[in-house]
Amino acid sequence: MKRGKRMTYFDHAATTPIHPQVVETMTKLMPEIFGNPSSVHRYGRAANEKLTTARQVIAESLAVKPHEIIFNGGGTEGDNTALISTAFARKNQGRHIITTQIEHPAILQTAAFLEQQGFEVTYLSVDESGMISLDEFKVALREDTILVSIMFANNETGNLLPIKEIGAILKDHPAYFHTDAVQAYGKVSIRPHELGIDMLSISAHKINGPKGTGFFFKRDGLSLPSFLHGGEQEEKRRAGTENLISICGMAAAVALHSEKKQAVQAQKYQCFTDTVTRILAEQEIAYHLNGNEQAKMPHILNIALPNIDNQMILMHMDLAGFAISTGSACTAGNVEPSHVLTAMYGEDSPYIRESIRISFGLGNTQEEVETFAYKLSATVKRLQKK
Ligand code: PLP
Repeated sequence: MKRGKRMTYFDHAATTPIHPQVVETMTKLMPEIFGNPSSVHRYGRAANEKLTTARQVIAESLAVKPHEIIFNGGGTEGDNTALISTAFARKNQGRHIITTQIEHPAILQTAAFLEQQGFEVTYLSVDESGMISLDEFKVALREDTILVSIMFANNETGNLLPIKEIGAILKDHPAYFHTDAVQAYGKVSIRPHELGIDMLSISAHKINGPKGTGFFFKRDGLSLPSFLHGGEQEEKRRAGTENLISICGMAAAVALHSEKKQAVQAQKYQCFTDTVTRILAEQEIAYHLNGNEQAKMPHILNIALPNIDNQMILMHMDLAGFAISTGSACTAGNVEPSHVLTAMYGEDSPYIRESIRISFGLGNTQEEVETFAYKLSATVKRLQKK
């Protein structure tokens, strides 16, 4: 569906619309550069040149070496790679893994799979603001811990987790440190080497790039077998012909979210968030903020609206022309209760069924946000009367 005049998209944490500059880059290259980057003839060399440039652009965005970037199929593949490859490579050194209860299913389901294979997983709990405790982490860390995987930012609340502190604790510990940075990348500065991060997963479709494409950062010197077996692409670290056009699109998307732009965008999103909460307060709509205001990305606003069923709100807002979300997974049309909010409040909390996630992105305007906030207020009042 086109983002027509009537519909306003506020679900950028789920995915983002592909940016016109990305479309332009991809459509221009598609007929021109069709060679296999592994071929030695000039078609192959031309393709390989594009791959090299994209790798440089992406490496610069993290201040890492181009060689430390491995192109792949996105966040889910990166998360599976980090967990499964580390587990299999290091099983003789230990079988213990630490992660959190609020990770994306790409981590949680993979961890559950590894438990079935005989690994032991500690899932760190969170407090009511959705933050983990460093003390709990220190207690959980053992001699046989081979991997710690903690997300950089949470996709439902926008919370930024204490990655720097975890990296510092792990400095003198042999456990590999992976972070799922899918939601944080392009929003905040990420410096893997300074933060002690060994591996990091990224997805292009969260930064206005194409879907099904991403990259994996693997620190130089970290021993990790290839997750996919086959050809010798990506220096034998990820088999399969690279998705060249999408990778070039991803590099174009990275430029839209440079650190210089991030600061301006964050300010804009903070204004949007403040506008929604201000109008709700003015309209005397009670709400509860899910997340930690002191350590949160401003483009995600997750709120509980007391005595309102979130599915009803979603439906009414959709009819009114606004795409928002609950943030939790949707399977065959049924929305599962959010595992993140459940971890924060316990499974009996009404917030789980009352919460909505509004997530802003590049194209949104102050006017759209104001119109939305008034419409949301009116809808809540109407539903509360019923
Ligand atoms: N990790 C997080 C935090 C996400 O939000 C997502 C996407 O929703 C993923 C991983 C999965 O990424 P992809 O859709 O590229 O497989």
